[in-house]
Amino acid sequence: MNVELIFEKSDSGQNNYKLPEWKGPSSSIIPPGYIRTGINLPDCSEPAVVRHYNNLSKMNFGVDNGMYPLGSCTMKYNPKINERISGKKIYSSIHPFAGEESSQGVLRILFEFSEYLCRITGLGGFTLSPAAGSHGELTGVMVIKKYFESIGEKRSTILIPDSAHGTNPASVAMCGFNVKEVPSNSDGDVDFNKFMEMLDKDVAGMMLTCPNTLGLFDRNIIKIAEALHKNGSLFYGDGANLNALVGRVRFRDVGFDLMHINLHKTFSTPHGGGGPGSGPLGAADHLVKFLPVTIVIKDGERFGIDSDRPDSIGRVHSFYGNFSICLRAYIYIRMLGCDGLKDISDTAVLNANYLMSQLKNIFNLPINRKCMHEFILNDKGLPNGITTNDISKRILDYGFHSPTVYFPLLIHGAIMIEPTETESYESLQRFIDVMKTIRKECDAEPEKILGAPHNTPVKRVDTVLAAKKPVLKWGD
Ligand SMILES: *Cc1c(COP(=O)(O)O)cnc(C)c1O
Repeated sequence: MNVELIFEKSDSGQNNYKLPEWKGPSSSIIPPGYIRTGINLPDCSEPAVVRHYNNLSKMNFGVDNGMYPLGSCTMKYNPKINERISGKKIYSSIHPFAGEESSQGVLRILFEFSEYLCRITGLGGFTLSPAAGSHGELTGVMVIKKYFESIGEKRSTILIPDSAHGTNPASVAMCGFNVKEVPSNSDGDVDFNKFMEMLDKDVAGMMLTCPNTLGLFDRNIIKIAEALHKNGSLFYGDGANLNALVGRVRFRDVGFDLMHINLHKTFSTPHGGGGPGSGPLGAADHLVKFLPVTIVIKDGERFGIDSDRPDSIGRVHSFYGNFSICLRAYIYIRMLGCDGLKDISDTAVLNANYLMSQLKNIFNLPINRKCMHEFILNDKGLPNGITTNDISKRILDYGFHSPTVYFPLLIHGAIMIEPTETESYESLQRFIDVMKTIRKECDAEPEKILGAPHNTPVKRVDTVLAAKKPVLKWGD
């Protein structure tokens, strides 16, 4: 396929529709000296530009094109009505400085939305400020730090299982804590005995991804929470992937003191392409006072910003966070109601277990137990030197996005599949059929796999070269 840049299409002699010659004043409104010269802008006709960008847009793949089983990322379908409503002028053109009096409706949405998240998790309060899951983590670890300062204790370690999301140790290290990795047992749960050996008075807390990156609900979770609390440590839950558990588990009851949620995974708001996302952070009652500023409160019938937060860690985002993302999630929750939210997790878990049951006899399944919203296969036992990378490229040829590969690091050659709750039985079945076909090709026609992809606009790229010598700018 021709992937010429628009610069390469530049040709001032192109034929196109013509406007009458401009007869007005010729002086520019830009003062002399401010006009940049020597910029090599492409010179194309209007149809050339329209075709160029339309064709580029068709080379993209998204949930609106087909199934996108990218484990850990929850690439589910976002109802278009969220977009329609949040795009309305009454929401999109409000100004953050409009003042409380004229922003009552917006403040009410933010207040009620926080209340919903409290109800879903059982936690005491939420901040809507964090702009991503990892930003929620960072905010949460700042709260942990502030909590220990407030009680005059110095603790410097946070425990993180090896099945945690990669952002967890990064957030912890950014806040100046030491990370200690807790190993998993062969079932994919935290190795409880090892955990107990590591738990001492220097441990400020533990950050547990739930479900973990193996797609599993840790069966030791209650015991872990009790041991942490007995030790005076805090328990942080990474709830980015709440679509496995929403409406089914109240996380405060499990023992989490802090927890973030990714709206751009669980609550059907857009992600990818650089966001914006949103990762609200919830805290148990005794930690709510440390949450960032800009918490909306209700006083009688009025809504306003809580201005009395002397213990707060401060500001982590301008104004109210990513309001339009919160609005989409609010609409989604209002649309589904309590029963609808439970349906999300039921269907996400059912879809994943169905796929796993159909694929486990075709590809190797390293951990064979009931999964949550995702599960992991790997390339063990594949013939002809075929690896996970080859399988993932061949999947593209059949019109699906690839699953997440080589993550988590815990499983060699991982293929991490998350169908999400918005895929129908028919599309799951199509994916199963494709995976069966690919497995047959591994034996009978390995060249098809090793040379894949064949049907995509860009064929197999040299990933090493791309990583070592990235071309980030045209003309270099
Ligand atoms: C996606 C994810 C994150 C990070 O969220 P971002 O919004 O990408 O920063 C953290 N933890 C888990 C378990 C995730 O799946």
